[in-house]
Amino acid sequence: MIRDIERILISRGAISDRVRELGEAITKNLYEADTEHEIALVAVMTGSIIFVADLMRHLPMKIRIQLMTATSYVGKSTVTNSDPLVGKLPDVKNRHVLLVDDILDSGKTLTRIRAELESLEPASIQSCVLLRKKLPSAMAVPCDYVGFEIEDEFVVGYGLDYDGYYRNFPDIGVIRP
Ligand code: 5GP
Ligand code: MG
Repeated sequence: MIRDIERILISRGAISDRVRELGEAITKNLYEADTEHEIALVAVMTGSIIFVADLMRHLPMKIRIQLMTATSYVGKSTVTNSDPLVGKLPDVKNRHVLLVDDILDSGKTLTRIRAELESLEPASIQSCVLLRKKLPSAMAVPCDYVGFEIEDEFVVGYGLDYDGYYRNFPDIGVIRP
């Protein structure tokens, strides 16, 4: 696996420090500001699998974790195609929603899921992504917490895949062409 990685962009240590900071900011803004409403953490699978597992352990309050599935790449393509597929909708009515995804690229996934969640009458919705590409499309999507801003290149590791592979690579890196 390591031989397929051209270079490491963000090390596991840097990720871990940043995830802790995000957890602290979320706890302060989402929980300490209003302890009355419950919090539903809605994670977009599969790319956010490791991020959400780490992030939730920096959230000390009582939260419900719910998973949604979205897919924007088919097989070996590295270009986003049309509409992501969204599965069963979570139960978020009257709860503060923290929507968690791995990366903001075209922004289609987050925009679409956010719109679906809005219709379920949550108390509020905030979103959190580990990575955001420095692209006009990605910067235009409202996002409350961003782990790292990266250049427009295809990254893998820490949950992010290429054709299903490399999700278990512990750092975030760029694969060889
Ligand atoms: P968007 O809808 O914002 O274009 O795409 C978001 C989804 O596409 C992410 O949740 C992620 O699954 C996938 N994606 C976007 N950019 C990358 C990338 O650089 N690497 C990987 N592995 N997946 C990406
Ligand atoms: Mg995704």
